[in-house]
Amino acid sequence: MMSREKVVEVRGLEKSFGDLDVLEGVDLDLYRGENLVVLGKSGSGKSVLIKIMVGLLKQDEGSMKVLGQEVSKLATKELNSLRLKIGFSFQNSALYDSMTVKENMEFPLVRNIKNLTRKEIDYKIEELLEAVNLPQTINQMPSELSGGQRKRIGVARTLILNPEIMLYDEPTAGLDPITCVDINNLINEVRERYKTSSIVITHDLACAKQTGDRMAVLLDGQFKAMGTFDEVFPRASDERIKSFYDYNF
Ligand code: ADP
Ligand code: MG
Repeated sequence: MMSREKVVEVRGLEKSFGDLDVLEGVDLDLYRGENLVVLGKSGSGKSVLIKIMVGLLKQDEGSMKVLGQEVSKLATKELNSLRLKIGFSFQNSALYDSMTVKENMEFPLVRNIKNLTRKEIDYKIEELLEAVNLPQTINQMPSELSGGQRKRIGVARTLILNPEIMLYDEPTAGLDPITCVDINNLINEVRERYKTSSIVITHDLACAKQTGDRMAVLLDGQFKAMGTFDEVFPRASDERIKSFYDYNF
């Protein structure tokens, strides 16, 4: 039985850029241990939402609580320690091309956690490369890896600080269908193994179906539908949600 503790609680969130109203009263809960999929067409405000979650943008109105803390009210030091509990991989976030896989993995670790021994660092890197099934790439350069492998290493790098919450922003964008399945499996494995609570942003319904316990569809600045895949999609009353489904299946 899943615990119903909320790790993220969003209420009445509003955000505009000049004349452009992006979020217009967003309510959302993420429960501990669940994978929540956020769907919505390009430009609907999905990335803006998670940027507010990690304090990279500030809302105009409403509240964004993460692990019980109102993000917009945190001082820099508190915000930094909250961010250590959130693993986020942004849409275009890439590995550092000039560093090996090992150096890429080591970077967030030595920057954020002091007093680790060489042995502890190496152990952690090896554990995570095993977890994403790519131990053999440890000394390779990112340019030598496939797109799917780079994504997996990116996820491993994000996990290295033991986050409680994982935010995946379009993890399967630009990947072929087989590699997408692979990444979706990884998202599920990460949840099982590390007990993370996750938000997976996507406009890929196959990804949604495979990784999501619940779906939330962002339309006109609000979540218009929320529930399991079968509750939200096959019998959607909103034409736009229906067409989203018909287009994909
Ligand atoms: P998506 O759902 O595709 O992730 P985004 O959340 O990135 O969409 O963006 C939603 C809208 O907000 C887009 O129209 C985008 O151009 C606009 N936007 C996002 N960030 C900024 C910003 N920092 N300044 C101005 N406009 C922005
Ligand atoms: Mg986006």
